[in-house]
Amino acid sequence: MRWLAALGVVCSCVVSTQSAAPHASASMTIRAARIFDGVTGVLHRNSAVTVTNGRITFVGHVEGDVIDLGDVTLMPGLIDVHTHIDWHFGPDGRYGNRPDGPRETPEQRDAAIAANLRATLLAGVTTVQNLGNRGDAALRAAVAAGTLVGPRIVSSLGQLQPGTRTPDQLREAVRASKTAGADVIKTFASGSIRDGGKLNVTQEQLDAVCGEARAQGLRAVVHAHDPDSIVAAVKAGCSQIEHGAFADDRAIAAMKAANVFFDPNIGLVLQNYIENKAKFIGTGSYTDEGFAFMERAVPTLGPIFKKALDAGLRMPLGTDAVAGAHGQNAREAFVRVQAGQRPVDALISATSLAAESLGMGSTLGRLAPGYLADIIAVSGDPTANIDALRSVRFVMSQGKVIVR
Ligand SMILES: [Zn+2]
Repeated sequence: MRWLAALGVVCSCVVSTQSAAPHASASMTIRAARIFDGVTGVLHRNSAVTVTNGRITFVGHVEGDVIDLGDVTLMPGLIDVHTHIDWHFGPDGRYGNRPDGPRETPEQRDAAIAANLRATLLAGVTTVQNLGNRGDAALRAAVAAGTLVGPRIVSSLGQLQPGTRTPDQLREAVRASKTAGADVIKTFASGSIRDGGKLNVTQEQLDAVCGEARAQGLRAVVHAHDPDSIVAAVKAGCSQIEHGAFADDRAIAAMKAANVFFDPNIGLVLQNYIENKAKFIGTGSYTDEGFAFMERAVPTLGPIFKKALDAGLRMPLGTDAVAGAHGQNAREAFVRVQAGQRPVDALISATSLAAESLGMGSTLGRLAPGYLADIIAVSGDPTANIDALRSVRFVMSQGKVIVR
C-alpha cells in the first residue's frame, strides 16, 4: 500500500512500540474517501484529518500531497466502557487457578495480558474502561507512556463488593480507591447472572458507595441484573448501570427518569462464555447451572435492549469482555444492530457517547480539532453496514500509527 510507505511503515506490523514518547511529534494529514466524526450521521466526503503532537488540529478538505488511505472510512477509535482486559486462559488453556493445573509464571501472565491489549487495539478499540483491579495501574501507565501497545485504560483499580460492610466502611473504601488512583468506582447491587442476578445489598450500602463517589468527584458504575437492584442503584444516584440482563419496564423507566447511562452487554460476554464453556466450567459460579442461566438469558437480551432503545436510554457500548473475548469487541455493535439500533447510533454509542459516559466527552470519541488523536479506518461505510467494523485497516493511538 502506498500510504504505508508514506507513513514510513515498511512492514505489516505494529510500529513505534518501543518509543518512550507517547506522541508522534510531526504533523500528519490523512485523507480518506469518508469521515465519520463520531457524532453526526452525515459523512464528510474526500476529507482529511490533521494530527499534530497527538491531537487533532483540523478536519476538512485539503488539496495537495497528503497521506491518502483511499476507499476507507476514518472514524474515532472505538471505546469499550466495560472490559476485563487482564482475564485470560492459563497455561492449561483453562480459566482460573486450579489446584491440579499448571502454575502460571509472572512472565506467562504478562504475555497473556499484553496479547489481550494488542488484540483489542488492533481491533480498533483505542480506549477501554477496565473494571478492574490493582494491576491496571501499571498497565495504564505503560500504555500512556507508549511502552506497552494497547488501548488507553480507564480503571476502577478494583471492585467494591458491599457484602457485610457498613456504610461508613464503604465510604472509606471509596476514598481509598480514589487515593490509589481509581478513575471510577465499580460496585455491585446484585449477584451474578449465573446466580439469578438478585438484589444483594441494602439501599444504605448503595447510597454510601455512590454518594461518596460523587462527593469525591468519581463516577460509580454498578453491576445490577434484576429490576430491584437497578432501581436501587438509580435511587442511590449511581452514574451507570451495568448488564441489566433482567431489566423490565419499571427498571427501564427508572433509568430514563434519572437519565443514567445504561451499559447492557448483549453481544459478546455470554456468547463468549458459552462458546468457551469447556475452558470456564469447574470454578466458582461456572457450573452447569450457571451456564444454563446464561444460555436462557442470551435470546432475551435483544428484546430488552430494544425496549431500552425505544425508551431513549443513553447506552454507551460496553462488552464485559473476559478471557477469550478480547479483540472481538465489535460483536457488541453487530448484535445491537441486529436488535434494532441504527448502525450510525451503534457507532455513536462506541465513540462520542461512550466518551461522554467516561466523563471524557470533550477530549475523546470525536474527530474534531482539539480532540486526542485516537483514529481508526475501516473498509466500506460502517454507517451503512456495521460489518465494516470487521475490517479495521488503520489504527492511530495517541497520535502514533499502529498497523496490522
Ligand atoms: Zn464485568
